[in-house]
Amino acid sequence: MRDGNLICLGIEGTAHTFGIGIVSEDGNILADERETYKPPEGKGIVPYEAKKHHENVAAIVLEKALKDAGISTEEIDIISYSAGPGLPPPLLFTANFATKIARQFSKPLVKVHHGIAHIEIGRFLTGCKDPVVVYLSGGHNAILAFVNDSYKIFGETQDITVGNLFDRVARKFGLPMPGGPKIEELAAKGRNYFSLPYTVKGMDVSFTGIQTAVFRLIQKGIRKEDIAFSLQETCFAMLTEVAERALAHTEKNELLLVGGVASNKRLQEMMSKMCEERGAKFYVVPQSYSSDNGVMIAYTGLLAYKKGLANPFEDLVRPRWRIDEVKWFI
Ligand code: AMP
Ligand code: MG
Repeated sequence: MRDGNLICLGIEGTAHTFGIGIVSEDGNILADERETYKPPEGKGIVPYEAKKHHENVAAIVLEKALKDAGISTEEIDIISYSAGPGLPPPLLFTANFATKIARQFSKPLVKVHHGIAHIEIGRFLTGCKDPVVVYLSGGHNAILAFVNDSYKIFGETQDITVGNLFDRVARKFGLPMPGGPKIEELAAKGRNYFSLPYTVKGMDVSFTGIQTAVFRLIQKGIRKEDIAFSLQETCFAMLTEVAERALAHTEKNELLLVGGVASNKRLQEMMSKMCEERGAKFYVVPQSYSSDNGVMIAYTGLLAYKKGLANPFEDLVRPRWRIDEVKWFI
């Protein structure tokens, strides 16, 4: 507690990033330390290696975060961690680490849903209230909105995520992870559009057909820039279409883009234009908080703690925890 404000230390470690954020109840970000695991060349995340990475950096990340915040452990009121969804090895390490320090500091422990944390930090930093959320990260590809007492999933991917697709295509080009920003750079220099399978089924999207078609274009020796351009145009048009339908269906008038892919300028442009045409407001989470971080876990931990929604189950982690299973509020 500082100046009458509760202080929460939040720990993220569901996948590639181990991060610790410290946030106070009045919305001040006191610390934001992160270390990110880089997969070996030509590979995606190897879950066990991500866990080893987190193991190696955890103590130093904690020490730095406490130092940045300039607070003593007594001043911390709550410890929160993302309990899922995520990859079991890094997830379990993070849960055990959080449990250990909560015990050591004698603080209550709050389990946070990683997806809700992405949304809540987005709502907090942009000031939007009740948006249709487009959540696109490495592991998630969903269109959501808050209805009654939880975030409901209106549409998702039937196979891989768009972030995953971009990473796979970038790897085929021989580019390292994360592939999304590299695809964006290439696409900016693309001129020719090659038709790719546009697969929208109701509110869901599917990307594996595009992957097959893109790999064929690569084999044919089509320019990388034109492939990346065609890839972006097709995938983002599909996502914009379902986002627009969600706005129409829910009658909400705000749209919020969150997750690592949210930093893509072309995606932002397409979504923002669609919103403008419908008279809806467009928001995007600031780039520094679009990817995984501890601040979003600390902030959401505070919200959960204050509402008494801290400990909905006994298990330490839930690798497949669905967002609509979480009783929530906005
Ligand atoms: P996250 O899991 O939230 O950290 O998001 C990581 C995913 O976002 C990876 O699949 C990245 O390739 C993707 N990504 C990051 N930046 C961009 C970008 N500028 N354009 C497209 N995808 C991106
Ligand atoms: Mg994430």
